[in-house]
Amino acid sequence: MAEINDQGNVQARCPGCRGALSSFEWRTATGIHGTVRASSFKHRYWNDAKLDYRLFRCAGCGRGGIGVIAYGGDSNFPGSYRELYDFYPEVRDRLQLPKDVPKGIGKEFREGEKCLESGTIRAAAGMFRSVLDKTLRANGYKLKNGTTLEQQIDMAADDGVITAARRRRAHEEIRVLGNDVLHDEWQEIAIEDVEAARHYAQRVLEDFYDDRQSVLKLLREAGRVPDEDKQPPAAAT
Ligand SMILES: [Zn+2]
Repeated sequence: MAEINDQGNVQARCPGCRGALSSFEWRTATGIHGTVRASSFKHRYWNDAKLDYRLFRCAGCGRGGIGVIAYGGDSNFPGSYRELYDFYPEVRDRLQLPKDVPKGIGKEFREGEKCLESGTIRAAAGMFRSVLDKTLRANGYKLKNGTTLEQQIDMAADDGVITAARRRRAHEEIRVLGNDVLHDEWQEIAIEDVEAARHYAQRVLEDFYDDRQSVLKLLREAGRVPDEDKQPPAAAT
């Protein structure tokens, strides 16, 4: 969560600095980056506060940012007191994924994280369900078009690729939540529920891809055909 300090600079996780916590500065040695004064208004605590849309620059990578800030107590920014209402761009922490995770599945997971960052919570839930779905398919659990995600999770647990505990979490935290989004009436869902889906989707990816060679052996013993064993389609002649 971005925070503003007494000097008026903003501390936020910067997308240009790989999500590291960075300082976004509002001025240079010679001037300021720019500001739009939206209004003077009565803040809930302070009389005659000002509301600014203010430009910032990351001290690490130089990326620009914009903050929505109320301040008061002094007519010049950053005032004697201030409150940061909004800041862009800001990334949240990114969960580590095993290096063997297929590219498309990794991208799907990151898109889920981006949805969470931008507050599109339902979209994020759909993405994490999709990560689970695509992971099981890539590991040979989609036997035919009619094989449901529910059945695929159970098969992976029966083969010993995921534990019984993970089976339960995959059902409860990822599949059911995602299904609610995809198939039920629109309703608000809690960000905490989607955070849990993100967490367990990452765990499932670790189960399948942390020690890929051992998992491949297990899959082959169970008669599954993971993507690694599939023949590429013959080139058209
Ligand atoms: Zn940066």
